[in-house]
Amino acid sequence: MRLLILAALIYLGYRALKSRIGSGHQNAETDLRNMDDEMIQDPFCGAYFPRKNAVRASVGKKDFLFCSEQCRDAYLSGREKH
Ligand SMILES: [Zn+2]
Repeated sequence: MRLLILAALIYLGYRALKSRIGSGHQNAETDLRNMDDEMIQDPFCGAYFPRKNAVRASVGKKDFLFCSEQCRDAYLSGREKH
């Protein structure tokens, strides 16, 4: 009987600890990753690449990020033809 109470206490303590770690810590880690090494998708060729390698192009008020200058140029000239 004492063992059962002990087990219940350990279980409750474990649950409280787990939920506390789950909320704060994970967000900080995600924010850090978003700084530089976030993987983004090239809208032209569909390849994934790190944000820090991106070739940026502004179309109107929107910013597009491409994996290479070739993709950027092809995408932009493709848009103008439509
Ligand atoms: Zn590309």
